[in-house]
Amino acid sequence: MPYLVDACPLPGDPVRFVIGNWPEHAGVVLCGVCRVVRNVSIVTSRCVKCDTYTPTDDEFWDYAPSIPYFDGSSVEPLVDGLLDADGNPMLFMPVSTLNVGTLGRPIDGRTPWKERDTMEMAIFVMALLAFAGEYGIPEAQLLRYYNIDVPFSKMSGRSVSWPIYQDIRAQIIARAGQPGPPFEVTERLAADL
Ligand SMILES: [Zn+2]
Repeated sequence: MPYLVDACPLPGDPVRFVIGNWPEHAGVVLCGVCRVVRNVSIVTSRCVKCDTYTPTDDEFWDYAPSIPYFDGSSVEPLVDGLLDADGNPMLFMPVSTLNVGTLGRPIDGRTPWKERDTMEMAIFVMALLAFAGEYGIPEAQLLRYYNIDVPFSKMSGRSVSWPIYQDIRAQIIARAGQPGPPFEVTERLAADL
C-alpha cells in the first residue's frame, strides 16, 4: 500500500502527498504553481492538484533517504530532503497507508507505467530488489508479480526507501500466506510468515 506523507514546513500546516503509488504517480516534486510538495500524474505528467505544472525530469525528488517509517525509523540516518518554496528544510512523516489494491494490476484496463522510467518506479524497484536479495527470492519473480520493469535510466544513485521496503515486505508476506503464491516462498520468507 502506498503511504500518505505529511510534509511540515517549519512552522506551518502539513501538506499531504503520497509515496509508493507508481501505477498512478510519476513521482514527487515541489510544484512551481502550488509552491508545495505535490505528486505528479503518470498519465498527464502534471501536478495532480493544480493540473497545470509540468516538472522537468530533474525536478523529481528522490525521497528515499529523507522519509522514515511510521515509527520514525530508518536504516541510514535521514538526510534533509526537499526544501520548501522559501528554501527552508521540511520534515516528512508517513501518517497512514492507502489501500489501492494490488500494485501493478491494470487500472481501468490500462497500465500507464509500462514503457516508462519514472522516479517513483525507480524508488519502488530499488526497494524491491533489496527485499528480493534479503529474502533470496528471484528478482524476476517479484518484478513479474508487480508487473513492473526495471526503469534502468533512473536507477543510478537510488537508495532503499525504508517505508517502501517495509510495505513490500508486508505485501509479499500477506500474499505468501495465500494459496499459490506466484513467487518462491524461501526459507527466509517462510520464517516471517
Ligand atoms: Zn500544482
